[in-house]
Amino acid sequence: MIIYLDGEFLPKEEAKVSVFDHGLLYGDGVFEGIRAYNGRVFRLHEHLDRLYDSAKTIDLDIGMTKEEMAEATLETLRRNDHRDAYIRLVVTRGVGDLGLDPLKCSKPTVFIISAPWGAMYGDLYEKGLKAITVSIRRNAAEALPPNVKSLNYLNNIMAKIEANYKGGDEAIFFDTNGYVAEGSGDNIFVVKNGTIFTPPTMNNLRGITRMVLLEIAEELGIPVKEQNLGFFDLYTADEVLVTGTAAEVAPVTLIDGRKIGTGKPGPVIKQMTAAFSSKTSSEGTEIFK
Ligand code: PMP
Repeated sequence: MIIYLDGEFLPKEEAKVSVFDHGLLYGDGVFEGIRAYNGRVFRLHEHLDRLYDSAKTIDLDIGMTKEEMAEATLETLRRNDHRDAYIRLVVTRGVGDLGLDPLKCSKPTVFIISAPWGAMYGDLYEKGLKAITVSIRRNAAEALPPNVKSLNYLNNIMAKIEANYKGGDEAIFFDTNGYVAEGSGDNIFVVKNGTIFTPPTMNNLRGITRMVLLEIAEELGIPVKEQNLGFFDLYTADEVLVTGTAAEVAPVTLIDGRKIGTGKPGPVIKQMTAAFSSKTSSEGTEIFK
C-alpha cells in the first residue's frame, strides 16, 4: 500500500507522523472520506470544497491548492492501482509543542490513504439496520459546528459506544434542542406518506451523499422537506434511511425496538438505492486518463 504523505508517495511502513503532531495530541485537523467506484472518484470536487471549508473554519492553511490536492488524491489511487476504494484525506495542524497553541505549528501534515472497500453494512442493506437513539447530544453548533469535518470525532464515538452497548448497528443523535441531528457517521432521512423529510444542516454534517439524495429525489419527483424532526417522526415513519460515503444508502428498519413501517426496506429506499448506484457507477473524475 502506498500512502501520500507531505508531498511524497511512501510504502505504508514508512508513512509515519510525529507524536508531537497536533492532529494526534489535540484532534486538531480536518479530514474527508471519499469513494472511488469503477475507476472514477465520486464527487471529488464537492469533497475537496468541504475539506477546504472545514479547514478555513478552524483557520488551518492547507498549503496546497485544491487542484494539487485533487492530483495527489488521483495519483495515490494510481500508485495503488485502485479503481474501487475508500480514500481518506487528512490535514492536521502539524507538529508543535505540548501546548495547544496552533501558532506553534509551522506547517500542516497532509496524508492520503486509499484502501480497498466493500459494502460497509454487508447484509444489512437487505435486512435493514437496528438504530438506537442515544442520550449523548450532537455537539452544539455554537460550540463546534457539526459542519466541520474535524479530526475530533469523540462526540460521534461516544454515540457509537452507546449504540454498541444497546445492541444497535447505528446511533441516532439528537441535538441540544431535542431535534434529530444525524447518525454517528451518516445523515438521516425519514419517509412519510410519500414525502422525504431530513433535518436542516445546522445540527449535522452537510453530507455529500445527503446532497446526492436530494438531487435524486428531485429527479424522481419525490417531494422533499428539510425540517426539524423529533422522536415521534422517527417512530411513526414509513421508512427511515441513513446516507454516507462509507454507509452509502442504508435502510433503518428498527429504532429503539420500534418496527419502522413494515419492518423491511421500503419502496422509496429501494428507488433511492438503485438511483444512487447508477450515479456512483457512471459519474466521477477519471483516475486513469
Ligand atoms: N455525518 C457524519 C457525522 C459523518 O461522519 C458522515 C460521513 N462523512 C456523514 C454525516 C455523511 O457525509 P458524506 O455523505 O459526505 O459522507
